[in-house]
Amino acid sequence: MITCYLALGSNLDDPERQLQDAVAALARLPHSRLAAASPVYRSEPLGPAGQNDYLNAVVALITELQPLALLDALQAIEDTQGRVRGERWGPRCIDLDILLYGDQRINEPRLQVPHPAMAERNFVLVPLTDICDPRLVVPGGSDLATLAQRCPTSRLERTRIRLKTH
Ligand code: ATP
Ligand code: MG
Ligand code: MG
Repeated sequence: MITCYLALGSNLDDPERQLQDAVAALARLPHSRLAAASPVYRSEPLGPAGQNDYLNAVVALITELQPLALLDALQAIEDTQGRVRGERWGPRCIDLDILLYGDQRINEPRLQVPHPAMAERNFVLVPLTDICDPRLVVPGGSDLATLAQRCPTSRLERTRIRLKTH
């Protein structure tokens, strides 16, 4: 059993419902248990201009799925929710990324873990720190508290939205 942290993001087609649907689908994954969900944050979009704000959250998943099987499962959930793969960082109804997979470092064509951009994204580090010990050391990097301190500050606000994990 490995504890993973997953980042969820949406800025299309009712983002609150998208996040809630994704969490419900994650809770149904085989050989896995959804252990925690952060509060939902509203963040300024990254990438192409003119996009809506994002809603973001991080969840903890305890799983026996191997990393690539987990990635397949996340992409299947994205597909089910109607994600269309358009321009990089363009608007999307749901994005599910693997931030951490236990203490493993993975560098494969389809999968890099820890997520290579997590240290630059406060919309990832802040919700991650909500559900995870800030002393946790990101494999190959620093502890979460230090990363959060060094992270560029883009607009981020905590909403009152809470995700149902069961
Ligand atoms: P970013 O990775 O900068 O957040 P993105 O999430 O928008 O960008 P996607 O279009 O969702 O990128 O995914 C592009 C590819 O990234 C996927 O097909 C997947 O194979 C690959 N990938 C590599 N590492 C990861 C990871 N840790 N989590 C999810 N996908 C990953
Ligand atoms: Mg992403
Ligand atoms: Mg992605």
